[in-house]
Amino acid sequence: MSANISNVDVILDTEDLDVPSCPHGPALLFIKYDQDGDKPGKQRKFFACSAFRDRKQCRFFQYADEKISKEKMEERKLITKGNSPKYSHEDLWNRSQRLQHTQVHDSARVYCHTCDLLLVPEEHQQHKGHTLKMNISCSLLQRPTQLFQPQDNNKTYAQYLFASSTVTFTLEALDKLGVTHVLCVGAPRIHEAVTNRSGSKGHSTRTLLLDLDARYMQVYSSSQFCRFNMFNFHFFDSETSQQVYQDFVTPSPEKRVAIVTDPPFGGMVEALARTMSRIMSDCVRQDKDEEEVITVPVLWFFPYFLEKRIAEAIPALHMLDYKVDYDNHSLFSAKKKKGSPVRIFTNLQARQIPLPSNEGYRWCEVCEQYSAEENKHCDKCGRCTSKDGTSYVHCETCERCVKPSWAHCSSCNRCQLQDHKCGSSQESGCHICGQSGHKRRDCPLKHLSNRKRKKELAFQSGAAVSRNKKRKKSEKKEKKRR
Ligand code: SAH
Ligand code: ZN
Ligand code: ZN
Ligand code: ZN
Ligand code: ZN
Repeated sequence: MSANISNVDVILDTEDLDVPSCPHGPALLFIKYDQDGDKPGKQRKFFACSAFRDRKQCRFFQYADEKISKEKMEERKLITKGNSPKYSHEDLWNRSQRLQHTQVHDSARVYCHTCDLLLVPEEHQQHKGHTLKMNISCSLLQRPTQLFQPQDNNKTYAQYLFASSTVTFTLEALDKLGVTHVLCVGAPRIHEAVTNRSGSKGHSTRTLLLDLDARYMQVYSSSQFCRFNMFNFHFFDSETSQQVYQDFVTPSPEKRVAIVTDPPFGGMVEALARTMSRIMSDCVRQDKDEEEVITVPVLWFFPYFLEKRIAEAIPALHMLDYKVDYDNHSLFSAKKKKGSPVRIFTNLQARQIPLPSNEGYRWCEVCEQYSAEENKHCDKCGRCTSKDGTSYVHCETCERCVKPSWAHCSSCNRCQLQDHKCGSSQESGCHICGQSGHKRRDCPLKHLSNRKRKKELAFQSGAAVSRNKKRKKSEKKEKKRR
């Protein structure tokens, strides 16, 4: 898992700009800071692919102040064309419909992993030498997340699939809420589970998958799947898809929509949050005389260490203690000692999503939340303090709970990793002003122009110098007195 490249921020307000597009829809505008303390003047804005952070996978790049020649524009159009799926959604759906019937023998169903294509019988010959999956049963066809090979490049699709325990937990939570429509944004396993149980045991929950992965066009109709980019709210098959999406989320009296999303963790949280906010507002009843505004429940799966970023972007979301388990990720797994670092962020009240007691979760009366077994309530802090799957320990000097691997260091005057080098702070300073204690994102100088920043920094260091002089003077006085 790669976190955000730390010296790059996204700029969401591009209203006055001519935003260029890549094969993944409108690009995002970024600003890059210099690694060594961000010397003002050295930052430059640029557009890059919103979906992929791997330049080998999407080469699109353009400085914000760059003029693009006609030839280059034409070249880009060709690249986008070359990148788009060979078949339309309708064609792909029709192809697979031919194979969906139980009368069709399993041997007629072959999936080519090399071409990412479900082959119709006439085509089998042309794919000799490719990686093929033969004899696909109807039921495997209905479980595409098991049929397709996960694309687990963190800089592109970052496909990590939920373990069945998490799928079951999520479905139970949605059922308890009385949800009738689940919008799965980058959550194909939830979509699959809801689809496959529909009809059985009186289940009638509807589901719509929004995902970047074009392979789903082969197994879901255009009313079940929209190819969508969640970093820029882009629908690829714009006319049909947008209508399907609108119809799905538009409120009606009996409808209860919920949003389930598990985005790549390496992407820009602010861009995701903008999409989520947009979807949330699309789900809300628009009419003015409606007294009570019903907010749509959101389950956003994300690691605990990005809690601050989510909370900043959408304050209505808070973190649950539930550890999300994955099938194909060695670190995000229940098998790890601390368990998975992935949690659920939601706008629901904690009591609306009971966490399973047979997995050790308990209700904490004081915190009014479900806490994991190891997340002990600290009477001194007045809350259940641990986040990372270990039991935090209270430090009397710092007056707070800290990770068990930390110890109080009297020369640093704070708790640190036991084998730290004194004086070398674990956290690096802010890229803009160099101060420790905050990151560039929260820097008070962030919105100033380069010139003003320079002035401000010069002023601040001047102030520091004069403070130092004062201190030295008074120290001298002290000495004289003695
Ligand atoms: N745990 C989930 C899958 C999460 S993996 C489950 O089991 O259902 C991330 C998902 O987001 C994948 O399905 C991936 O195809 C999709 N995705 C990746 N980038 C995306 C983007 N830019 N827009 C929309 N979906 C994206
Ligand atoms: Zn092939
Ligand atoms: Zn508590
Ligand atoms: Zn404490
Ligand atoms: Zn301490």
